[in-house]
Amino acid sequence: MSSISKILDHNKAFVEQSRYQEFQTTKYPDKKIVILTCMDTRLLELLPKAMGLRNGDAKIIKNAGAVISHPFGSIMRSILVAIYELKAEEVCVIGHHGCGMIGLQSSSILEKAKQNGTDENLIDTLTNAGIDLDKWLTGFPCVEESVSNSVRLIKNHPLSPNHIPVHGMIIHPETGKLDLVIDGYNSTNLPESGKRGCS
Ligand SMILES: [Zn+2]
Repeated sequence: MSSISKILDHNKAFVEQSRYQEFQTTKYPDKKIVILTCMDTRLLELLPKAMGLRNGDAKIIKNAGAVISHPFGSIMRSILVAIYELKAEEVCVIGHHGCGMIGLQSSSILEKAKQNGTDENLIDTLTNAGIDLDKWLTGFPCVEESVSNSVRLIKNHPLSPNHIPVHGMIIHPETGKLDLVIDGYNSTNLPESGKRGCS
């Protein structure tokens, strides 16, 4: 049986047995926070449990590496929607040790795309059209720097309200231990670009 068939079978029973009732809540985050974190599978249940979060407590935005690639892309838009429309009052960027985006090279993805049928000429066409595939598909050297960059981008965004604290954290993907690396309550804590290097 395919994964989707199993999911749909589970879902039928879940709804029929009213197991959704314990999850009922509103669209507004009870703990008034919005979290940007990584899509890593190890964090699926670990991160909310390690933070004591239940359904309804927080807005959680996920992508590969908890990276904001563009100040006017969908991640930053989601953070602004959480703040202005959904009453979030604090932002947490949470990277993790052992992230798949650490040291990721664009060549690795482009090579696999070619092996899966992407025409090399198409890659050249995209590059000639000004799409910087290398930059887009390259990860980061270390999680500390990545979290720091995301925090700085959110804090300095022209549409971010000044009073909203933006915290930077790193979670251990096995123990769930959280380290606060940037304390958003103390804005003088915000490192300048490139100041929080990789150890
Ligand atoms: Zn990750």
